[in-house]
Amino acid sequence: MNSDFVLTVCPFCGCGCQFYVQVMDGEVTGVVPCKTDEMSEGKPCIKGRNATDFINHPDRLKSPLVKRNGKFEPISWDEALGIVSRRLSEIKQKHGPDSIGILSSAKCTNEENFLLMKFARAVIGTNNIDHCARLCHASTVVGLVKAFGSGAMTNSVPEIEGADCIFVIGSNTMEQHPLISLRVLRAKAKGAKLIVADPRRTPLVDFADVYLQHRPGTDVCLLNGIMNLILSLNLANNDFIAQRTEGFEELKKKIEEYPPEKVSRITGVDVVALEKAARFYGEAEKASILYAMGITQHTTGTENVLSVANLAMLTGNVGRESTGVNPLRGQNNVQGACDMGALPDVYSGYQRVKDKEARAKFEKAWGVKLPQEPGLTVTEMTDSAINGSLKAMYIMGENPALSDPDINHLKKALSSLDFLVAQDIFLSEAAQFAHVVLPACSFAEKEGTFTATDRRVQRIRKAIEPIGDSQPDWIIVSELARRIGGIQFNYTSPREIMEEIASLTPSYAGISYERLDNGRTLAWPCLSEEHPGTRFLHKDGFTRGKGRFFAIDYREPAELPDNEYPFILTTGRLMFQYHTGTMTRRIPALERELPTGFVEINPEDARKLSISQGERVKVKSRRGEIEIKAYITEEILQGVVFIPFHFAECPANELTSRNLDPEAKIPEFKVCAVKIYKG
Ligand code: SF4
Repeated sequence: MNSDFVLTVCPFCGCGCQFYVQVMDGEVTGVVPCKTDEMSEGKPCIKGRNATDFINHPDRLKSPLVKRNGKFEPISWDEALGIVSRRLSEIKQKHGPDSIGILSSAKCTNEENFLLMKFARAVIGTNNIDHCARLCHASTVVGLVKAFGSGAMTNSVPEIEGADCIFVIGSNTMEQHPLISLRVLRAKAKGAKLIVADPRRTPLVDFADVYLQHRPGTDVCLLNGIMNLILSLNLANNDFIAQRTEGFEELKKKIEEYPPEKVSRITGVDVVALEKAARFYGEAEKASILYAMGITQHTTGTENVLSVANLAMLTGNVGRESTGVNPLRGQNNVQGACDMGALPDVYSGYQRVKDKEARAKFEKAWGVKLPQEPGLTVTEMTDSAINGSLKAMYIMGENPALSDPDINHLKKALSSLDFLVAQDIFLSEAAQFAHVVLPACSFAEKEGTFTATDRRVQRIRKAIEPIGDSQPDWIIVSELARRIGGIQFNYTSPREIMEEIASLTPSYAGISYERLDNGRTLAWPCLSEEHPGTRFLHKDGFTRGKGRFFAIDYREPAELPDNEYPFILTTGRLMFQYHTGTMTRRIPALERELPTGFVEINPEDARKLSISQGERVKVKSRRGEIEIKAYITEEILQGVVFIPFHFAECPANELTSRNLDPEAKIPEFKVCAVKIYKG
């Protein structure tokens, strides 16, 4: 019997744990922890430990499919690629390149994201490329670029252990980033203060020194209130403000409008708790902020992020070890997909498509003229498909039919397209709308790199041959590009693609497969072959020069409860599932833990509606209605309900709204109005 252990990276959350995939006689047999991996320290979480159990699932797509008379039929690769290249070419010719939209994937490698970005811009000739970072951290990218000049975690995960105060806001860290919450608990054991702010009582609250259970959508008000107290308690870092920032006077004036009593009235948090939080954060030598989608998924997402940045700069908690503003990215490679320019306005390394010099550099490298205007976002593609201006879409490894807001609208959009091609490992809810489906490989069947939430680039390695006739995404995209007439797509390995990434992307310039051998990692910016990578950003100056304060007013969410829809719905994730569940729902050990969704209701609300524990109820919004099991719990505020979005049989996103943050275009998944009733 031949047995092998192949070092690779977990395909689930952005922690980016490395482990070994065990292979026996060419078959994956399981996960073996890697004790030298800095993130997991040899103890991956339950998702990681079971990460290979979906690979041989009977539902894996094993050959290309074409839909004929409403039914999928297997076809050869040659035929499938022939249909896709012909249809995309015809549509481009007839309606122009911007009639085609492309979704890249936070689950695919950096190399695959770079290649699809190049395919969109250099072969199709459109900037209509986006991916589901639009739905999770688009506001982080916009907000932190405005405040600091760089839209990523400022510090690394291991540094969290050294903080004196950790402020976790809008992040269910224990369930979503378990290996990061371990660092929080270690810091706490060493004496750090822990502040948790969340409308929903998450497991980390049990360890908090102060818990701020604010009303959904009141984050700007809460943060302005804490800053008001920090100023009146004389805890601001005046030297840092004077030397390293600009815009402080405007901010000061604005936060004077947020005295604690007013903030308490709006947020529902009492003044004593607000003051405690202000003292803990303001008095700490090293304070670190961790946040996730509780901050970003709002119509005020960018303003929420800017407020978090304001708080950190006000106290000088940026540019030093164990401090910073740390957005926790959800998916394994959502940081990398953004870094690679799978976004409508930037090339890799956030080089703007509108910047003449950047565009000229990519045009020279790729030997083609590139489009100048930013393209459509995910949500704009949906509207354009319905109004008829978008005719075709190419979706690689995304499942918008469960992850996007208002999925009835999304499904209408997918049905309106003249041509849809989906490339995936399973026939996802979105792939079911496709005209052609291309079977892709899982993480264990290909080479490449993922970039973890703290900008750490790591290699994934091929452990087994592709299942059935599936192919790695980078091979499919290259072949399709060549058939449509793309030049410079003759890659023989992802290593070559990384060489091109490094040559065109200053922050990845020093990253190479050789330097990532044997489980080594490099955090960007990594500017040359000698550069050691960067653990924390903005040490001697912000990427944009001076850090910029923004004076921000509190604005209410776009859709508030009323007589007809009296509850606020907020959505989120659970420990045992990953994104839309295409992989995790096919892992028996995870599915056993929590086999379906539920709606959390406060006991007082349940009593008023005569709903008992476990009873099936209907939840309805202005956009749709679902039937779901009630879970009565004190964890949720009165007047608020929570539904996880993983489950196709009770899809939370049938209810959510398409109200967008005006700058980042991220939808407001965290607040919409619903009613609940017994069916
Ligand atoms: Fe690590 Fe996240 Fe994978 Fe768990 S899911 S093993 S925390 S990368």
